[in-house]
Amino acid sequence: MTVGRLYGRAGAEAFALAGRATQLLDWQKNHRYCGGCGTPTEMKSAEFAMSCPACGLLAFPRITPAVMVVILRGDELLLARSPHFKPGVFSALAGFVEAGETLEQCVIREVREEVGIEITNLRFFRSQSWPFPNSLMVAFLADYAGGTITPDPQEIEAAQWFSRSALPLLPDPVSISRHLIDAACQQI
Ligand SMILES: [Zn+2]
Repeated sequence: MTVGRLYGRAGAEAFALAGRATQLLDWQKNHRYCGGCGTPTEMKSAEFAMSCPACGLLAFPRITPAVMVVILRGDELLLARSPHFKPGVFSALAGFVEAGETLEQCVIREVREEVGIEITNLRFFRSQSWPFPNSLMVAFLADYAGGTITPDPQEIEAAQWFSRSALPLLPDPVSISRHLIDAACQQI
């Protein structure tokens, strides 16, 4: 069953609860031994933490932040598709935050790397827990500041400016990327 169909059948509340449960089970399964000394870990009762009885190392559920951004230029917005999208679907640019990086730096870097353009006026839109397996998606809008679209052939199959009246196929309505694109369309 696709994520969209599951969401449609279960509703937002059950979807969020199932997502939380999935993430916690995945974390427990993958932290059965201490990453520092290899001793079997124990579940702490008062909080979500696996602790090591030998060296005291604590392991908390892993949450992996990722950013996404839709860039506006006049009455157009920039969307791209990666090779693993369904045929014809374009979406926001996205990427994982690297160690030591702020969310803002990550957006600027990802846009440079994936399409070779510069942005300005970065503004937070909203975030969404995305338990596949443990992402926290943080969505932004930004304005175009310069450069020509030059897609990174490793990650981007196609990228282009779209006007609101001629949009391509878009992601499933359950995803924050779709909400972000809808919000962008209301600003152009
Ligand atoms: Zn240990």
